[in-house]
Amino acid sequence: PTNTTIARTDLRQLRRVFRGRLLGPGDPGYDEGRRVWNGSIDRRPGLIAYCTDNADVIEALRFATGRGAEVAVRSGGHSFPGQSLSEGGVVIDLSGMKRLRVDPDTRTARVQAGVLLGELDTATQVFGLAVPAGIVTHTGLAGLTLGGGIGWLMRKYGLTIDQLTAVEMVTAGGEVVRADASENSELFWAVRGGGGNFGIVTEFEFRLNPVGPMVLAGPIVWRMADSARLLRFYRDWISASPDDLTTAVVHRRAPAVDFVPAELHGAPVVMVVACWAGAIDEGERFLAPLRRFGRPVLDLCAPQPFTRFQAMFDPSFPHGRWYYFKSRDVDVLTDEVIDLTADHATRFTSALTAFPIFQRGGALARVGEDDTAFSGRLSGHTFNINATCATEEGFAQERAWARGFWSDLAPHESGAYVNFLMEEGAERVRAAYGPAKYDRLAAIKRSVDPDNVFHLNQNIPPAPA
Ligand code: FAD
Repeated sequence: PTNTTIARTDLRQLRRVFRGRLLGPGDPGYDEGRRVWNGSIDRRPGLIAYCTDNADVIEALRFATGRGAEVAVRSGGHSFPGQSLSEGGVVIDLSGMKRLRVDPDTRTARVQAGVLLGELDTATQVFGLAVPAGIVTHTGLAGLTLGGGIGWLMRKYGLTIDQLTAVEMVTAGGEVVRADASENSELFWAVRGGGGNFGIVTEFEFRLNPVGPMVLAGPIVWRMADSARLLRFYRDWISASPDDLTTAVVHRRAPAVDFVPAELHGAPVVMVVACWAGAIDEGERFLAPLRRFGRPVLDLCAPQPFTRFQAMFDPSFPHGRWYYFKSRDVDVLTDEVIDLTADHATRFTSALTAFPIFQRGGALARVGEDDTAFSGRLSGHTFNINATCATEEGFAQERAWARGFWSDLAPHESGAYVNFLMEEGAERVRAAYGPAKYDRLAAIKRSVDPDNVFHLNQNIPPAPA
């Protein structure tokens, strides 16, 4: 499809059938509407269609495809490379579709695509239940789920997709279909890790599991100079982790937030962020050796409500900053990986850069590699090398740092998580899935979206007929 601007006369037709708000260039609110989480993304869509229901989604899609306009689909707007925003074309925005029904008796939830992670946690935690999802409350559930969904409960309950039981979606042809284990099962396999390639998901159905409401969670912090020693200790310590524990190691400058003492503000630090989602006393026992390692300068790991912990890192990832990411999975924190990590951690310059290394394994690794489209179940760690600046100033330099670190990690790569990729090209997407899975996905794509209408994503073009 080519990018087109939308003619006023055409819009009048759409307005007759579309119930949500339609925003085009020049309309009040347009500049606000074309903003996404990553402030470095600056695109001007021809039209933003705020959908209220499936019918709106179908009308907006039909309108776009009928004019050969490029289609972007946006739920939470948190795609790192801004893939939910098109230059010209039509943005099909689902952010207003927020219906969320929790059934505590059957321990299930039906959740529309516009719901954000924090909204889902709030609704499920009322009943002491949760869906395993991500680590920042304002992230969109839709994009996160379609790529897999890693977070603080993944070792206990798996990825977000491991608790997904069905989706309702609008296909490229404008049909509403349901996909689950028995109906459209191949499509259901594909949407669990294959991203937004296969259609517009309007509703998700999840199984819910007991969590909290109190978890033992938070960061334990050391000076960054201790990084290499800490990472060696950490590698051995996590080898005995029960599934109740998920951790991440974060290198950064200590942020100037109220729970960090003023004398640490801006100091280079390394922290182990832990989330123990089981019995608190057992967690205390397991965490004790970590707390005793070296000299932590701050220990904020304490019993707290799960929903509060889930919001703890929100201040570090606000909307509008300039973000650039590189990512790789690595199986083992070998001495070599540790030394190069500790070295690169001293070389970024922005006070806003913070890069997590997620601990994988546990429940997520016990789901079969071929059971879902998500790839790399057995990876040990996910590096999310995140370069952040307040504005364009210093961004090129910080981005170069991320690329350099990422290049040095290349020999150790065991996989890549699609939700952590930028626009890295077709070969990288193929490599992330591996050839067999990629070919299966491409065949499914051919059957549901032969014209590649949905290509603003980590794209899997349809297999040739
Ligand atoms: P959007 O930008 O709206 O969409 C992302 C992609 O999905 C686009 O290609 C879009 O077209 C497609 N898409 C969106 N909605 C739909 C839909 N309804 N149907 C079909 N396709 C759709 N990931 C994790 O796994 N764990 C984390 O802890 C985590 N933390 C994050 C924290 C922050 C601050 C950010 C910015 C991202 C984080 N991510 C995390 C990555 C996240 O999973 C992806 O950015 C994800 O794409 C966000 O989904 P969204 O709906 O907000 O994004």
